[in-house]
Amino acid sequence: MTPEICPNCGEDVPRNARACPGCGADESTGWAEDAQQATTADLGLPDEDFDYDKFVKREFGPASPKPQGLHWFWWVLAILLLTAILLTWIL
Ligand SMILES: [Zn+2]
Repeated sequence: MTPEICPNCGEDVPRNARACPGCGADESTGWAEDAQQATTADLGLPDEDFDYDKFVKREFGPASPKPQGLHWFWWVLAILLLTAILLTWIL
């Protein structure tokens, strides 16, 4: 589908031309209407699916090791405090 007039820049496009002589738009890059549909379809759907899932996993995924680290930290603190109290009792 080669339009007689380029919808992108308004240049006259030869009937057998595969690309616009004015702006270089063609079927592969997409004429204006096709390009808009292609870009919205390409950018819209993958971005919503990819960003939300990966963002949630990236943001909340590392959050699970943090409580475990805190637990270990508090366990070490408690043991150190107990040993300190025992040492004060012994001494
Ligand atoms: Zn053009």
